[in-house]
Amino acid sequence: MVNIVQNNAMRIGISLLVLSFCFQLSAQPKKEFQGRYVLVIHGGAGTILRSQRTAELEKKYTASLEEALAVGQSILEKGGKAIDAVEATVRVLEDNPLFNAGKGAVFTHEGRNELDAAIMDGRTLAAGSVAGVTTIRNPITAARAVMEKSEHVLLSGKGAEQFAKEQGIEIVDPSYFYTPERWRSLQRALERDSLKQLKQQASLLKIAEENELIKKDRYGTVGAVALDMEGNLAAATSTGGMNNKKWGRIGDAPIIGAGTYANNSTVAISCTGWGEYYIRLVMAKTISDQIEYTNRSLQDAANEMVMVKLPKLGGDGGLIAVDKSGNIAMPFCTEGMYRGYIKRENYNAPIQKEVAMFKD
Ligand code: ASP
Repeated sequence: MVNIVQNNAMRIGISLLVLSFCFQLSAQPKKEFQGRYVLVIHGGAGTILRSQRTAELEKKYTASLEEALAVGQSILEKGGKAIDAVEATVRVLEDNPLFNAGKGAVFTHEGRNELDAAIMDGRTLAAGSVAGVTTIRNPITAARAVMEKSEHVLLSGKGAEQFAKEQGIEIVDPSYFYTPERWRSLQRALERDSLKQLKQQASLLKIAEENELIKKDRYGTVGAVALDMEGNLAAATSTGGMNNKKWGRIGDAPIIGAGTYANNSTVAISCTGWGEYYIRLVMAKTISDQIEYTNRSLQDAANEMVMVKLPKLGGDGGLIAVDKSGNIAMPFCTEGMYRGYIKRENYNAPIQKEVAMFKD
């Protein structure tokens, strides 16, 4: 009897070993792609206007994007995980006051900074988000903790802050997020609001005109997507949302499938733009579905969604994406999008890098 049990246990053990070996083999990238990694980042679309272009400004943004890319690359190059790379990269951008995420976030109508962030691991489809938080220095790290240390996906407001505190994540006074530039943007938006009200009272305001006024309250967001050497995809997005947002508004960034999505069998995506439209289009997941169910290329699917469907509804913005084969897409229908990528095809290939702001 004891022998039978032992033999069966041995057989099961051997089968499990063979199975896990086969699984590892199939999960390994093919030889020609060994050593391949890709990291793509954005620092928002919409805030950036040709009319305000100066060499000095461009230098500042370029240096900031390069700094963020370098941090993520150092993780991927050592064989680190895509999920670690996107979190670390987004943290750098959150700490940089030039971007609308973490320090430097835009203000709500009431003069507060309410931050949204999400992260997703394409290997397991695990995801975590926080929304409307006001005291978490790096919301992306809180989102990751939600993913890994809670039974939930999306935590908001005070509850999210309490959870972050319990996890030992850095909490700051809300004044930490203040920057004079963003405060001035809010004041300008408030002035436009009063003009809007006057026109509304006189029934002179047309929807198109109202949309233009909202677009003037420019926005931004930061994000990173990565493919690591083991073929895993991950996406992370963090934002202050839209300038002058009201009533606890939450954008697309923390909505899994809208502003953030990653799936090893398709693509990793991080969006930036007028969030309401991204939510209505279920932007990121729709692109993933097109790749999965209609065999469309990433480029085709992303271009159609950003360049056709989004403006047709009245929205604007852009996104960054990397698919499971390492293809990159960075479409945007605004004047510009802060963006960049760094990649290597295999151990022997040279490192390719690009950072850009405008179309050309
Ligand atoms: N998508 C963000 C939001 O609507 C803002 C942005 O990316 O500019 O909250």
